[in-house]
Parts: sequence; structure tokens; C-alpha cells
Amino acid sequence: MHTSLECSLTGEIHDHLTLQGLSRAGKPLLARYDLGHLKGRLTPAVIRARSERSMWRFHDVLPVDAPDQAISLGEGLTPLLTCCRRGVFREFENLLVKDESFNPTQSFKARGMSAAITRAAALGVKTVALPSAGNAAGAAAAYAARAGMKCVIFVPEDTPPANILESACGGAQVCLVNGLISDCGRLCRAACDRFGWFDLSTLKEPFRIEGKKTMGYELAFDLADLRKTSELQLPDVILYPTGGGTGLIGMWKAFDEMEALGWIGTKRPRMVVVQAEGCAPIVKAFRDGATSASMFPNAYTIASGLRVPAAVGDFIMLDILRRSHGTALTVTDAELMQGVEELARVQGLHCAPEGGAIWIAAKQLKDSGWIAPHETVVLFNTGAAVKYNHLLKCENAVRLDHTNPQCIDQLTDL
Ligand SMILES: *Cc1c(COP(=O)(O)O)cnc(C)c1O
Repeated sequence: MHTSLECSLTGEIHDHLTLQGLSRAGKPLLARYDLGHLKGRLTPAVIRARSERSMWRFHDVLPVDAPDQAISLGEGLTPLLTCCRRGVFREFENLLVKDESFNPTQSFKARGMSAAITRAAALGVKTVALPSAGNAAGAAAAYAARAGMKCVIFVPEDTPPANILESACGGAQVCLVNGLISDCGRLCRAACDRFGWFDLSTLKEPFRIEGKKTMGYELAFDLADLRKTSELQLPDVILYPTGGGTGLIGMWKAFDEMEALGWIGTKRPRMVVVQAEGCAPIVKAFRDGATSASMFPNAYTIASGLRVPAAVGDFIMLDILRRSHGTALTVTDAELMQGVEELARVQGLHCAPEGGAIWIAAKQLKDSGWIAPHETVVLFNTGAAVKYNHLLKCENAVRLDHTNPQCIDQLTDL
């Protein structure tokens, strides 16, 4: 259980026993735990011995008093898969995919929603509302249903149909907005003020990041398992498809917490922000040497999770990129769809466009020499291709007439 909420900019402490949104300085609040007390008691061996089959295995550093209070659908503990060295993947000696499409509602948004809705439920919230680019909406609807809460979502009207349908099917009130996620955010805020709903916007409440940080914890255990050692390990490079940046900031927080627990040393992976060319506020700010980002004009990309023109955690991400000796780069929509195809055809992985984007970015960074072939590189596939069926094509289907026995003459041996 967390013991305080600290402003990510000023360090000012806020009451952790009442509902909180942004800090008084208008910045994200971060949950703090008594890690000094846990050090030596909460060890990797203790975690490994636990029976929870979800991210709540790490409940001591999550916002619950006891693990059975969690609103859980089995989120987390996703596989870390080794890529085969074939075709376009040949030159990577240690390329891994943390496949977050295994989560409930098929994206890593489940982790954040499980944590946030758990805490909101504990503090008596009856209705949650949020703006979403797609996957957060579906996850929020599912966890709100599980918690017996009402849920209102504000999505751009061109959000993937699968996300709109799963939200509606889960009982959420769906508001289709003729604008971007930032426009959705403004309407959501106004509606929360009017109706007293709790705003679940990412990083505008303190706990979605707590759920997403478990990706960082798991990674250290996954890598140790893969290398058959009990010592927790981190990769050399992590590529992250960045919208609001919650997962990136969360993982970095997890690494700091693991160090404070005495689980890992000071070495950190180089963190890489990958954005779409049509919506790249963090990449632009990083290249400009800025400490915060400005609103990206006319934001557009088919990778809906990356369509975030302004992020409230921008300054934290930029700080992490510099401290980790990381970098930031863009890929085009055509490239990221090519990435989806390559991952599917060579690795058998059906990734979200956001996952396609990081694979393309990894290739580019290897070609430029920024990534060496022997380095351990982790790609976060944040969602499932099935949510983006409207973007996929089927050009190689053959029509067969079962009433004509000769129809298979059209086929050739592959
Ligand atoms: C939300 C989302 C992202 C971006 O995640 P952040 O942590 O907000 O940057 C990336 N990919 C997918 C599939 C998403 O749904």
C-alpha cells in the first residue's frame, strides 16, 4: 500500500487517503511506498513463491491494502517472447517481444485500469469517465463492469470500431466526439465537473501508472527466467510506442523502486520513444533539446494509441530519455503497417500498429548503429492486431467453388 502521493514536479505531498487528480501544481501525482521497510523483507524469492496469476503478485507496491481487494481480470504476467533470427529479423541476436496483447481486453491498458479502478472503488467512486484513443476505453468499461461502477467514455469518432463496440458491450456510455483526444479530454473534464464523475484520464489520476509500471517489474523477472538465473536483469534497450507515455514513465519508476528494494543496481536500459510521423510531440521536443513539449498540430496516425498531441507527463518522459541515454524517433503509417505484416509473417505475432511501429524503429536504430546486433532489445507490443481489423487487408485469398472438383487446379504448392 502506498504511503503518500508526491507531485512529480514540486515533490509536494498530497493526501493519499482521499480521491486525487492532478497535483496542486497541475502535474501528475506519483504514489510512494515505504520501500525502506520492504527492503530485505520483499525479495524476488518472495515474489516468485506467490500464487497470484496476475500483476497483483506485486501488490506490496500497488495501491491496495490486501491483494484480495484488487479488481482483477488476470492482467499482467504476459510472455516475453524470443524472436526467431530469420529474414528481416536475422541480424538481431537478442530481440525480445513483451507481448501485452495477452492482457484482458487485449492491451496493456488493462494493467492501468485494474490499478486505477481498484483504488477508485476503495475510495467509493460510483462513476468513472475518461477520454480515450481506443484501448483505454475498452479496458475501463471492462474493469468498471467488474467493479459494479458506471463508466462514460469520450472517444474521437474515428476510434477503431472494435474499441467502441467493446466499450458499449461492456455497458459504458460512449460519447463520439468530432475531434482529437485532447478535445475529448476537455469535454470529459467539463462533464466530470458537472456530474461529479471521477476523471480517469491517464496521469491525471495517480494509479493507472502504478498498474503500467508492473511491466517494468515483470521484465526483470522474465529476463532472469530466460537467462536461467535468479538475479533480476534488465535489457540494454527498451522501445516503447508512446502516446501519453504512462508505460514509459511507469517502467522507469519501477526500476527506481527495484533499486530501492535492493533488487537491481544502478544500470538502466536506454529508453526509446517511438511515435508516428503524423503525431510526434515528444520526438520533436527531444530533438529540439526542450524540457517540455508543445501541442502537435493536425495530429494524425492510424495507430490510434499514438494519437496523443499533448501529454501531461511530457517533462518526465524527456527527462527519462536524457537520463537513460535514450532516443526518440518517428515512423510513418505505411512503415508501421509494414512492421505489423513482418511481425505476423516471420514471428507469428499479430501486433497492434503501435507494435509494428517499434519493430520498424528497432530496425532503423540497428541500421544506424545506435543498437548493436548483440544487445538485448525489448519491444513492447502494446496491443492486438484484432482490434485493428479495419486496417488489415487480405489480398492473397483464393475463391473455391466446392461444387466443382477441379477448383483446386487453381492452387500451386507453396
Ligand atoms: C495507449 C496505447 C499506447 C500508448 O501508451 P502510453 O503509455 O499512453 O504512451 C500504445 N499502444 C497501444 C496499443 C495503446 O493502446
